[in-house]
Amino acid sequence: MSHNKTAIVIGAGFGGLALAIRLQAAGIRTTLLEKRDQPGGRAYVYRDQGFTFDAGPTVITDPSAIEELFTLSGKKLADYVEMLPVAPFYRLCWEDGTQFDYANDQASLDRQIHALNPNDVAGYQRFLAYSKAVFEEGYLKLGAVPFLSFRDMLQAGPQLARLQAWRSVYSMVSRFIEHDKLRQAFSFHSLLVGGNPFATSSIYTLIHALERQWGVWFPKGGTGALVQGMVKLFQDLGGTLELNADIAAIDVDNGCATAVRAKDGRRWQADCVASNADVVHTYTDLLGAHPRGQQEGKRLKSKRFSNSLFVIHFGLKRPQPQLQHHTVCFGQRYRGLIDEIFKGPGLAEDFSLYLHAPCVTDPSLAPPGCSSHYVLSPVPHLGNAEIDWAVEGPRYRDRIFAYLEQHYMPGLREDLVTSRIFTPHDFRDELNAHLGSAFSLEPVLQQSAWFRPHNRDAQLGNVYLVGAGTHPGAGVPGVIGSAKATARLMLEDLGA
Ligand SMILES: Cc1cc2nc3c(=O)[nH]c(=O)nc-3n(C[C@H](O)[C@H](O)[C@H](O)COP(=O)(O)OP(=O)(O)OC[C@H]3O[C@@H](n4cnc5c(N)ncnc54)[C@H](O)[C@@H]3O)c2cc1C
Repeated sequence: MSHNKTAIVIGAGFGGLALAIRLQAAGIRTTLLEKRDQPGGRAYVYRDQGFTFDAGPTVITDPSAIEELFTLSGKKLADYVEMLPVAPFYRLCWEDGTQFDYANDQASLDRQIHALNPNDVAGYQRFLAYSKAVFEEGYLKLGAVPFLSFRDMLQAGPQLARLQAWRSVYSMVSRFIEHDKLRQAFSFHSLLVGGNPFATSSIYTLIHALERQWGVWFPKGGTGALVQGMVKLFQDLGGTLELNADIAAIDVDNGCATAVRAKDGRRWQADCVASNADVVHTYTDLLGAHPRGQQEGKRLKSKRFSNSLFVIHFGLKRPQPQLQHHTVCFGQRYRGLIDEIFKGPGLAEDFSLYLHAPCVTDPSLAPPGCSSHYVLSPVPHLGNAEIDWAVEGPRYRDRIFAYLEQHYMPGLREDLVTSRIFTPHDFRDELNAHLGSAFSLEPVLQQSAWFRPHNRDAQLGNVYLVGAGTHPGAGVPGVIGSAKATARLMLEDLGA
């Protein structure tokens, strides 16, 4: 009987939370074990002097995937968290003063594209049609399919071929769009999920259609409020969340996981175990006592990993009315800079930044009259650049502040109330991320779908993976899709 079955999920990132909700809603007694003192993973929250800082994801797309978790539990998302629309989706800025407000308003898009290059108005329409076709195939049909056998991959082959999935995002965008800045504007999206636009499959252009279809959203109270809403849903369903549960090992007996053990000696038994922790950490450390863990961990270490990020969270004693909620600040170089970010070996002199100004949508995230922010700079992972972040971090922060002050936020350093940094070392040490990667395995075609670590381990039949390192990949919609794929397998295997 399914209601007697038990499951453990290690890690309370969006993927772990979504999986735990699905299992608990199906009657599996589920325990969610999180290393840190708060849930959310990359979507952790820092609070300081009345400022609320979301650590990670802020561009929330596809709210329907989140809504589904509530609906299948017989609840309503709106009763747990209010989702606010963000308009424009992003403001894109260049150093020469060019601005492009990317919004879900065709007339405004056409006007702005026309101002840069009249030819691209029609080119954009063709690009949008392509991106919609990829979205139908890649996201709606394949996004939550567990690619366990190569046959699944072969079945998807003809569609992938028809959509020219072997091309990169940038090369595909360039087939439709001529203007250099517009090529940047419509190709940078894969960076949001750790994909190099010059190397990642053109399948990732689907993010554009996804945003146009369902919009860009922000939870009232910040992304942390969405995490809290999901935790509450899980607990309302009867699930158990344990924080400060730093798991050291998954015990395996006769080819089956039987229990997990925390560093402090606590032990939990269950019929099956899913890990939302980093995939290399899961195999090398948690399953390291078993030959399968050692062998798979070694194989995964030879893969390509996504870049890391350097993030500064900061609070200012003044509002910033000149900013939109999401700003992408392009530097002078695009391809050259991205090349250095993905290959190292050091920090580039210039940068391209993403700047978060959530008080534009929700002023409650800062004390009255103040504003909270974060700025992130993509940087090489620790395998490509051995940087002593304890020394370089504060210097890099000062360079970024000076740049923001010059181009976007006059008087920033004078208005500074509080700031903190999160470096590739923190991704490695706080989140157990291999090489400090911010998005796990790089989403290139040869590491996607069947080629990505599978949602169920091939040998240990009751060990599962969920989150950015497995299919379909990083990003909030990605990891929520991975939870759907993993839950389907677990529920089938448990006979639920
Ligand atoms: C700065 C930043 C900005 C981003 N912006 C966006 C965005 O705007 N939109 C978007 O869609 N995506 C964005 N992303 C990507 C997105 O946040 C991630 O891909 C996604 O949140 C990862 O979810 P996950 O389920 O893989 O788990 P993670 O968030 O990686 O969580 C894994 C959890 O496992 C825990 N854990 C690890 N080891 C153990 C252990 N041994 N025992 C117990 N627990 C353990 C960790 O503490 C963590 O809580 C961003 C990422 C970053 C870093």
